[in-house]
Amino acid sequence: MTFFDTIVMVDWSGGNDTGKSPRKDAIWACVARDGRTEAPIYLRNRKLAEDWLEDLLAAELAAGRRVLAGFDFPFGYPKGFARALTGKDDPFALWEWLEQRIEDTPQANNRFDLAGEINRQFGGHGPFWFNGLKREIDYLPRGKQGYQNRFRGKRAAEEQARGAFTCWQLGGTGAVGSQVLMGLPVLARLRRKFDAAAWPFEPLNKPVALVEIWPSLTLDDASEGMIKDAWQVREVARMVSALDPTELGDVLDVSAPEEGWIFGLGHEDLLRQAASRPPRLTNDCFALPPGVNWTPVKDALAMLEQRLSPVTKIVKVPVTDAAGYVLTENVLAERANPPLPNTAVDGYGFAGGRDAGVHHLPLAEARAAAGDMPVNLPEGTAIRVLTGAALPSGVDTVVLQEDVTVNGGQIAFRGPVRLGANTRQAGEDVEQGACALSKGTRVGPAEAALLAAVGVKRVSAYEPLRVAVLSTGEELVEAGDFAGPGQIYDANRPMLLEMVRQMGHLPVDIGRVPDDRERLRNRLNEAAEQADLILTSGGASAGDEDHVSALLTEAGAMSLWRIAVKPGRPLALGMWSGAPVFGLPGNPVAAMVCALIFARPAMARLAGQNWLEPQGFDVPAAFTKHKKAGRSEFLRARMRDGRVEIFASEGSGRISGLSWADGLVELPPEAAEIKPGSMVRYIPFSSFGLR
Ligand code: AMP
Ligand code: MG
Repeated sequence: MTFFDTIVMVDWSGGNDTGKSPRKDAIWACVARDGRTEAPIYLRNRKLAEDWLEDLLAAELAAGRRVLAGFDFPFGYPKGFARALTGKDDPFALWEWLEQRIEDTPQANNRFDLAGEINRQFGGHGPFWFNGLKREIDYLPRGKQGYQNRFRGKRAAEEQARGAFTCWQLGGTGAVGSQVLMGLPVLARLRRKFDAAAWPFEPLNKPVALVEIWPSLTLDDASEGMIKDAWQVREVARMVSALDPTELGDVLDVSAPEEGWIFGLGHEDLLRQAASRPPRLTNDCFALPPGVNWTPVKDALAMLEQRLSPVTKIVKVPVTDAAGYVLTENVLAERANPPLPNTAVDGYGFAGGRDAGVHHLPLAEARAAAGDMPVNLPEGTAIRVLTGAALPSGVDTVVLQEDVTVNGGQIAFRGPVRLGANTRQAGEDVEQGACALSKGTRVGPAEAALLAAVGVKRVSAYEPLRVAVLSTGEELVEAGDFAGPGQIYDANRPMLLEMVRQMGHLPVDIGRVPDDRERLRNRLNEAAEQADLILTSGGASAGDEDHVSALLTEAGAMSLWRIAVKPGRPLALGMWSGAPVFGLPGNPVAAMVCALIFARPAMARLAGQNWLEPQGFDVPAAFTKHKKAGRSEFLRARMRDGRVEIFASEGSGRISGLSWADGLVELPPEAAEIKPGSMVRYIPFSSFGLR
């Protein structure tokens, strides 16, 4: 069992960035807590990185948090090197040896010279090789020619990790040698300053652990349109943070004195599986601030938005299957749309615009149709082009075929024709590399078209949210069954199941339970196993038979939200075995309104979608109403002849009014006298995602 509150992953660099914009090979870091990552941070040189790490560690320690800090370079050299250089088998002796000799500023450093100096001590032909400087360095071979190394080429960890590089190579693609030389001195200082424990050389019983990572161990090459190093530190941070303490303890249980080890080597499957785990919601995620009495609708929504986060697994989906999924990341265009300049009409293409007057142009033999490779066009000629055809080189203007006469290998038309007329520019819709769709978007028909058009092959998406629907009440019987006196049909369940489905989630029917605490307990257990969210209706207040709230309270994870809204009873929000529970009122009208107003955006958040605000319209009322101040009201409503009318009764049990209506009128908390012609806000059901 090993627990860290904060995970920070660092992609180190042996070089330095002196340019303006973020570069792929400078330093990137990413912090994660509870399985949630922050945005990756760009650190342009080691000085900045060390300062940033010092600030982070100091702040975390001050807050009493334990930190695991990962760095992507070897913490040790192949066996025997430490002793040969320092006289001890101790990796820390090597760290300090380097710390004392490496000179490093954002402008210059002595790593190649020091490597040459070390080589001199071992005969002058190795173990280090590669010189990144223009000048020659004594004893440092530029390439493998004349290279000799009396030490092993790789550590045991690198022998096992396929594709891992040797620490002796100081430069070139994939090389880590410079990172080690320039990184170990920093680790030596951090270890001393924060009394940190370095893995796997010492027990991790201190508040800060330094751990060697290698992102390529478990990550593939799809960096989802981000700078690769930024993406890698974020993915590894999320992965490590998603491990539970037992798993983390197992992964860290390694004996590799002197050479060190790569975090997760031998546990790759576990790490990959952890990477797809969503962060958990905590048991207190619905807790209300103290002293809250009646919560305005707007505040309740703001709290839900703030407290909830995606809970479903992240999967990679081929673009052809992406419809219905929610994107976990911004998707960048792999290809421009359109990919090449092309013609928007059937007609004749030529170079340049033409002014007023009659124009004649010789017609080339060739023809350009959609799908053809762009051809070359002799100067001063025109070519037949068909809609969608890539413009032949030299062509930038197209005249409509209806405006042209063709005669004896010539075309004639009347100007003016504007330069660029009837053509589409490459990338005029979406440029290559531009953000085509933003994260949190649900892929519908339009998004499916866009993803295809910009050449995306697969997307990272949240698995659909499974929503359990459960009705409670002694009086309920199943639709279609026999109902005795005093019994009523369960109307909420078919309604809520269909709402869930129309909103794009997976409904899971958990049935009905009478007002019996033990049976409800079992049913909630079942629901928590089969679904990511549980919607109940009925039994959510604080009465004798309100077993939903009683059980959630017993589980210690319940909050009764008294929201200033009509229709609506208190919402019982809580957690049951890790699954959030939305306890909706029993009255079908209140259940539907609360599901539309509160459960819908909550479900969207849990499913990874962006926060949803239903779009309403200010329209003239066709009714009269005296509204008291203090709470929001939602009335069943529909548009007729440009005005909004409301259902005759506000009774919360009048199910027929829900079907009569096409939407809701929302009246804000302030008092109002509404007369025919007063402007009120109408929200059609379609704005809530209902058909
Ligand atoms: P409760 O919230 O359990 O006190 O129920 C409030 C009202 O809603 C009562 O009149 C219940 O009979 C009714 N009710 C509860 N659940 C349902 C349901 N699934 N279908 C129709 N009516 C219900
Ligand atoms: Mg009841």
